[in-house]
Order: sequence, then C-alpha cells, then structure tokens
Amino acid sequence: MKLATFTHDGTTRIGVVDGDDMVDLSVAAPDLPREMLAFLEAGSDAMLTAREAVGGGTRLPLAEVHLEAPIARPPKFLAVGLNYADHVAESGLDTPEHPTIFNKQATCVTGPTDPVHVPKASHVLDYEGELGVVIGRRGRHVSRDDAIDYIAGYVVVDDVTVRDWQFRTPTWTMGKSFDTHGPIGPWIVTTDELRDPHQLALRTFVNGELRQESNTKELIFDCFKLVEHFSTAFTLEPGDIIATGTPGGVGILHKPPQILEAGDVVRIEIEGIGEIENPIINEPEDTAR
Ligand code: ZN
Repeated sequence: MKLATFTHDGTTRIGVVDGDDMVDLSVAAPDLPREMLAFLEAGSDAMLTAREAVGGGTRLPLAEVHLEAPIARPPKFLAVGLNYADHVAESGLDTPEHPTIFNKQATCVTGPTDPVHVPKASHVLDYEGELGVVIGRRGRHVSRDDAIDYIAGYVVVDDVTVRDWQFRTPTWTMGKSFDTHGPIGPWIVTTDELRDPHQLALRTFVNGELRQESNTKELIFDCFKLVEHFSTAFTLEPGDIIATGTPGGVGILHKPPQILEAGDVVRIEIEGIGEIENPIINEPEDTAR
C-alpha cells in the first residue's frame, strides 16, 4: 500500500495511492485519523481499515492533488553517514566499524515536489539520494530479526546538505538541517507491498543528468541492523524516519565539484517506491519568522 499525505481544495489529509488515483481516506474511512502521525500511532488496525477502504472510496486523479511530505514533522529524523562502500571510498575514509549517526532537524522536512532553498548563509548546496525507513511501532531493544515488525514502510529521501557548514565542525547537525533540506516522499510504501528493501535500484539526477546510481543491496549497515542499532540506545516511535545513507556520486566529490544552483532540478528515484523531484531556488526574502 502507498500511503500519502495530500492537499486538495485547500485541505490536507491522508490517502492511499492506487494506480493513477488517490483514494481519499477522509471519505473512504472517515473514522481514521486524517494526519499521518496519528494514523501510524493507531497501528495495525488502522492499517487494515485503510487497506479495506481502497476498493470503495472516493477517488481523485493523482494529477489533481498536491503531494505533501508523507509525515510533516517526524518525531525523529535520523540519518546515517558513510553507509555505501563507494561513498566511503570517494570520501577517502575507511569502512566504519560502527554506523556514523547524525540528526536532521524535523523542521527541515519538505514535500516531494516542493522547492529546496540555496540558503542565504551558504551556496555550497549538495544532494544525497537515500532510502528512508519509516518506523511504525514503538520499540526499544529491537533485534535485527524482529526489526521488520517495527517498520511501517519506506520513502525516498534527499539528505540535502550544506557542505561547508557540514565540515567546519566535528558534528554535522547544522549543515544537515537547514529548512527545506529534507524532502521526503512521494508516499510511504508499506512493508506488505515492499517486502525486501535491500535490492532496490537508486538513482539521482540533476537536470536529467545521472549523478548517483546504486542499489540498496550495497548498504553496509542494512535497514534492519539500523533499527537494532538505534533502539539499543533510545526508543523508536511511529513516524520516526531513518535516512540510510547515500551512495557514491555526491556533487561535492565530482571533479570538478558540482554544486547545486537555483534553477536546478534534483530527481531521486528508488525502485519499488517512486520518485521525488525538487526544484532548487534561492532562499526567499521572507523566511524570517
Ligand atoms: Zn546522507
């Protein structure tokens, strides 16, 4: 099942994508929560109700809705650095013994087609195409073997990075967390539809030019191992997102470096999930709040 958050006629709600249609769950299953975090927290009963509603619900053409980030404000937005061998090699580093973990701030999340800002503070902007794991159930000390039961599904993530801010301090939080630098989507593909997340082709294009091409079978620490690792230290909660790391081909390590500029379009495709496509724009004047 493909679970989406969408806006149509000025209201945002959740739905199930079926072919070229969006089944509006606010109509097809009106008792379900209308917001994804509450839906995921409602657990397997809500998932079952949504699945049963797909046959009979009101349908909207996908082309007529605006897809939002499936989860607008994840409780945690966790990420893994250096998790593909070719990216470790291009970075000139040794294969890590332990996963390299950092956080993106949840406020950086944006939708699968929404603009990404070149910030006022820096122009050294880069993409990172990644598979994202969405947690579906609260868990601590989850074993690798049981991890699948704690995963709701998978999304495409662009771990957008401000490279000079990433590397000017030992920790990466600032360079990874600028507003709009966390596009996710286009929807959550649930684990019943996508059973094996470890054999998916991943491609990143900039203005149609292929920049990253890999497969999730190349992950050093796989999705299930990451759930085990994180939950050793802290509780995972419904709606948490784990960006699993990017393969080789990031812009900064091209020769010469290929930095994103306003006017560029970044498209990331993952087999079995879909694609996100975000235009790059200069940070607007009115972002102070
Ligand atoms: Zn990354």
